[in-house]
Amino acid sequence: MTGRQRIQNYIGGELVGPVAGAYLDNFEPATGHVYSETPDSDERDVDAAVDAAQSAFKSWAVTPATERAEALLRVAAAIEANLEDLARAETIDNGKPLKLATTVDIPRAASNFKFFASAAVTFASEAHIMEQQGFNYTLRQPLGVCGCISPWNLPLYLFTWKIAPALAAGNCVVAKPSEVTPMTAYLLAELCADADLPAGVINIVHGLGPKVGAAIAAHKQVRAVTFTGSTRTGAEIATVAAPQFKKLSLEMGGKNPNIIFADCNYDEMLETTVRSSFSNQGQICLCGSRIFVQDSLYERFKTDFVKKVSALTVGDPLDGQTDLGAVVSAAHHEKILSYFELARAEGGDILCGGEARKPTGRCERGWFVAPTVIEGLSNDCRTNQEEIFGPVVTLQRFKTEDEVLASANDSRYGLSATIWTENLSRAHRLATQLHAGIVWVNCWMLRDLRTPFGGMKDSGVGREGGFEALRFFTEPRNICVKTF
Ligand code: NAD
Repeated sequence: MTGRQRIQNYIGGELVGPVAGAYLDNFEPATGHVYSETPDSDERDVDAAVDAAQSAFKSWAVTPATERAEALLRVAAAIEANLEDLARAETIDNGKPLKLATTVDIPRAASNFKFFASAAVTFASEAHIMEQQGFNYTLRQPLGVCGCISPWNLPLYLFTWKIAPALAAGNCVVAKPSEVTPMTAYLLAELCADADLPAGVINIVHGLGPKVGAAIAAHKQVRAVTFTGSTRTGAEIATVAAPQFKKLSLEMGGKNPNIIFADCNYDEMLETTVRSSFSNQGQICLCGSRIFVQDSLYERFKTDFVKKVSALTVGDPLDGQTDLGAVVSAAHHEKILSYFELARAEGGDILCGGEARKPTGRCERGWFVAPTVIEGLSNDCRTNQEEIFGPVVTLQRFKTEDEVLASANDSRYGLSATIWTENLSRAHRLATQLHAGIVWVNCWMLRDLRTPFGGMKDSGVGREGGFEALRFFTEPRNICVKTF
């Protein structure tokens, strides 16, 4: 034993160690130190979790929707009651600024449970009348055991975004958080137990993707897999799960365009663009990483933007003044830095950043990257085509709407896009033609949980959010009744 805090799996309502007894080091990105240990689980732990979920499913599936909703609301209340502790835990685990965890990630995790509690009781199914013959009604029944696999960037928010609708629809889950940021999922397990969620309804298995995640995706009794993470992993999951005809929802990478026209509301655009580029150190799948600026505005924007970005504070994420905390891991830090070399080799001009940052004191060994702006690269180079997922954006000039539309869509990804213009017709015209699951006009990250969420092309298959999520987590069956 090391004396470090040990995270445990949550199976059948109990906090238990992994069968193999093995643990992985869990690092605090801001300091580079190991501060806890997370189970290095394997398929035996997944088998136990699926068995527990299968047993709980029998009664959870027939629990009235109002009671399921009440249980979800108890979990939401527990999250809200522990907001500060959860936010601090997420900051230590992930490296993001505490103010972001406190105001966005953790409150949104509670909102997920609240939203899907209400969706559970308002969800309705269809009926179709066949004049003079009969009618059809569609039964939407829960699937059984669902696998939920989530990434490290918004650890509790995305974890609950998957779990809450699955439970609302009457399923039980086997969920795996990222091994890089396991702490808030562990704390959620404790809260679920305190909130009297029936044993086995949520099971959480920690560990590595190729072991635990792959075992969930491959398990015969797991009827659906909802995954958020990289496109490469999504493809691996599909390879395993699709031949078993599991339902699949894959939310994957992005390389999102942010299109700025000269007629935009300049001050609002500038302020939001700093946020949409660098929130969470650029580690939000929806961050705009390719900024297209209309020629006549380009120089003004470049000067003001670089000035604002250069003034951002990079440092200890627990400090309330910090704008950018640490990036999530040593490996990710290296990956981001390697793109600076690539950008230079491709002929890019780094206008600010382009280097690691080393704060003094507590964080001197942490993994920090200066917010970086690059110009002078064509859209088809690797820097503009590959997902970096860090505090790095490129600037490109455009003259016409057609030109920027072609460049924005010239990507394997299609997650989100942002348009800045006061020209209403142009905004609508472009929005319909952009290859993106969500298009923001004159805003960013404004979310209505009722809307379908997901990406196009290599960014995603399936949609989450709203009733779309409850449809995903149910099996529609048609009952046809002859009446005449
Ligand atoms: P990742 O693909 O490395 O890991 C995601 C999850 O999958 C982790 O829990 C991991 O352990 C697991 N995993 C890894 N290999 C697996 C396998 N073979 N089988 C099953 N599971 C496996 O992604 P990441 O680095 O944690 O997250 C960053 C990525 O997530 C970025 O590409 C980002 O764009 C994407 N993302 C997308 C969205 C969205 O809504 N589209 C949201 C957030 C993040």
